[in-house]
Amino acid sequence: MEQSLLKSDVISLLKNKIQLIKTSENGGIYLVGPIRLPVNLSGETVVFQWYCWLEREQVTENIEEIIGKLSSTNLSEYQQSSVLVYGDFKNNEDALIRMHSICHTGDIFGSKRCDCGFQLKKSMQMIKNHGTGALFYLANHEGRGIGLFSKAMAYVLQESGYDTVEANLNLGFVDDSRNYEDAISVLKTLRTKPVTLITNNPKKQDALKKSGMLLLGRTPLWGDESEYNANYLKTKVSRSGHLKEEESCPND
Ligand SMILES: [Zn+2]
Repeated sequence: MEQSLLKSDVISLLKNKIQLIKTSENGGIYLVGPIRLPVNLSGETVVFQWYCWLEREQVTENIEEIIGKLSSTNLSEYQQSSVLVYGDFKNNEDALIRMHSICHTGDIFGSKRCDCGFQLKKSMQMIKNHGTGALFYLANHEGRGIGLFSKAMAYVLQESGYDTVEANLNLGFVDDSRNYEDAISVLKTLRTKPVTLITNNPKKQDALKKSGMLLLGRTPLWGDESEYNANYLKTKVSRSGHLKEEESCPND
């Protein structure tokens, strides 16, 4: 589309729904939303507010320029992250949040090799039941940051007895290369009051604490154990420092 052909109402509609979050001198994050998103949650229709974001090294506040650049960028080749918000997220005193790492096999196919699909649906339900919260769906976190194809190779090694950590290390990756900075920038834009984090992973707690975000506490999320993911879950506790359900969180 020619930039000059963009109608003024298109520009003003988008202007109201796009925020620019500066993260460095020239770079930043475009945050689009809120967009009404009714979701089928275990048979019940629940309305979330949905936001999507895009990190860029060079950002502008000029909507025409943003649109002009997007149409020439092949965004479908990359995944973008997004967040589902429930309730009065900005103002309510107590909000539950989940930083969910994308898992193609678990979230989409319902794979029983991990507990991701269960955790995704469960945390959405917990947020809805709590009344206020947000689920961040982090698209560059596949396989703890190694990507889907590498995760498939790691699964090949796991079928021969390597655990999750050993498999990643043998493929030349660090065990966990996930980064939460962009998600935390978005979180801080949507809410400045303290949050309660749904996680078993102390690294996620640390990332939030380091960012200056106030944490009220942590809500654990275990379940859906089966013969297929028993080793995976055991490795999370013994090798990756995840906290078992009965252990109390030092931040609680
Ligand atoms: Zn998974």
